[in-house]
Amino acid sequence: MSIDLHTHSTYSDGVLTPAALVRRAASRGVSLLALTDHDETGGLEEAEQASFEVDIQLVRGVEISVAWNGHNLHVLGLDIDPHVQQLADGLASIRDSRAERAVRIAAQLDAVGVTGSLPGATRHAGSSAAIGRSHFARFLVEQKHVRNTTDAFRRYLGAGRCGYVPPSWPDLAQSIGWIHCAGGQAVLAHPDRYRLPPRALRSLFEDFARSGGEAIEISGDGRFRSSAQIRLARQFGFALSSGSDFHAPGKDVADLGDVTEIPAGMPAVWQRLQAMR
Ligand code: AMP
Ligand code: MN
Ligand code: MN
Ligand code: MN
Repeated sequence: MSIDLHTHSTYSDGVLTPAALVRRAASRGVSLLALTDHDETGGLEEAEQASFEVDIQLVRGVEISVAWNGHNLHVLGLDIDPHVQQLADGLASIRDSRAERAVRIAAQLDAVGVTGSLPGATRHAGSSAAIGRSHFARFLVEQKHVRNTTDAFRRYLGAGRCGYVPPSWPDLAQSIGWIHCAGGQAVLAHPDRYRLPPRALRSLFEDFARSGGEAIEISGDGRFRSSAQIRLARQFGFALSSGSDFHAPGKDVADLGDVTEIPAGMPAVWQRLQAMR
């Protein structure tokens, strides 16, 4: 069975509509799929409808932006009920801060001579209410300020660059609380991407456990690091989750179903999902 529990659609910074995403996942042999847009659950209904027409079990998910000790973290909520008020209100407040941040990013880009980025990024966001740095990155590429999105983050949008605006995301306990109110499981997304030294990673895992988090996502970037994470996950009693973090088809990026396999003998988060009961 092929499982992918981390994907993005046009409801955040992915390029496929929820229905197209579900169909592509099915054609690639995925049978359990979570849609986890950034701070937004609006795509779940369309994804669920599409899943009825193919051989896919859809897990309703979200990827929440979180602030922790000055780092931007991501916490996945899997198996959530998006209609639960605490979660819906929490996500709406994050999307409001995304809109405010976008105005400030554009002002900072203006100041270095990059004009028109607010309407430009808004156009790339399309109908998405979760406007973010990926949409600014696409504008910067389109306008030939940079060659690709990696460059856009390196030169303009990454922490400490001229277009960077420190976000005001909720903390770990808040975001995990919303996920639990909505009946979901909280998964720390891609811990190896935060570039934390071992001691800080351990302290993050401690805080995540103390805040009630259930699972850790293992990702493919670097076998050594993920083995350290698996050791820590065992110590803290976390289950493991795995997903492609798919945003768009392309070369050198993970496609739907391209996930790191969970080592034998470790508990998998999907064993705890409603969809599997
Ligand atoms: P935001 O949540 O608006 O701050 O944007 C974060 C998103 O930008 C992530 O979910 C990724 O999709 C994307 N992103 C972050 N860093 C990079 C990078 N270095 N290169 C390309 N995309 C990135
Ligand atoms: Mn993204
Ligand atoms: Mn993420
Ligand atoms: Mn993601």
